[in-house]
Amino acid sequence: MKRRTFIQNTALGSFGVVAGTAVMACQEKTSETNSKNVLPNTNSPLVIATWNVPEATGKAWEIIEKGGTSLDAIEQGCNVEEANAEGQSVGIGGLPDRDGNVTLDACIMDSEGNYGAVVYLQNIKHPISVARKVMENTPHVILAGKGAEQFALSEGFQKENLLTEASKKAWEEWKIKSEYQPIINIENHDTIGMLAIDKNGDISGGCTTSGLAYKMAGRVGDSPIIGSGLFIDNEVGGATATGLGEEVLKTVGSFLIVELMRQGKSPQEACEEAIRRIVSKNPNHKDFQVGYIALNKKGETGFYSIHKGFSVTQFLEGSQAQIPSNHFLD
Ligand code: ASP
Repeated sequence: MKRRTFIQNTALGSFGVVAGTAVMACQEKTSETNSKNVLPNTNSPLVIATWNVPEATGKAWEIIEKGGTSLDAIEQGCNVEEANAEGQSVGIGGLPDRDGNVTLDACIMDSEGNYGAVVYLQNIKHPISVARKVMENTPHVILAGKGAEQFALSEGFQKENLLTEASKKAWEEWKIKSEYQPIINIENHDTIGMLAIDKNGDISGGCTTSGLAYKMAGRVGDSPIIGSGLFIDNEVGGATATGLGEEVLKTVGSFLIVELMRQGKSPQEACEEAIRRIVSKNPNHKDFQVGYIALNKKGETGFYSIHKGFSVTQFLEGSQAQIPSNHFLD
């Protein structure tokens, strides 16, 4: 499924689907403001991700089911989308910046509070795996640009051209239409944010993206930044974001959600509050989208976005289809 259709998707309406044990859920607005979780709650392991990515979440679930760690599940689940050349928002095939360069951002965080990230990484299709290497094999937490690429090569990653023909064509068409102004494209952003609980009850998360399509060279969004695109606290839960990174960064959204859960809010209530913070500061919020997903230690999940069109995929034992409601503000 092509997911780069935040605002445009709004015309499609809402749906919920069960595929095996996966629940893929799109939002549906109802009149009443409901802060209860509407996805199945569980004390068992689970995987939840932004967007309609059953292959990626399915891979993560396969690892969890076999007794693997949530960290391995996150990395390998995200790898699936990163290797998908047809997806134009993550890994190979990601839409380039205004100059035609594909630059990737990713981060990963484990149940012990360790974190690793890469920003502005080029020519390496698995930034989440490089982020894990940064976390495990360096004394640092973020590597950027050329340094990140050199580190990846030294760790055995292959250099490859990430600009596919389809993405090059899209960029060339965009250049003809565009006045090449440094404005934020509201219509071109999606990110895989994934959270998982393993059989041990341990939580990890990851976030991987090519960022805003046709962004200014050098631009980095929320996705690789701890507390903004992702935050995990194994005592409380985790949260991750997709959408206009500048707004997530300004409100440190994922950290906010985890802290709200620590204070007793459910994942759903916490996601709603984080979206309200953005909307209350932005009279122009009609022009952009942000979506959050969250889970807590009990295995309760929540998700919320500013506008209709956001979706999540969740895998858990014996899940039942539930059509979610009230999962967007406008
Ligand atoms: N949050 C990402 C960024 O701002 C984009 C996205 O979610 O599509 O880079």
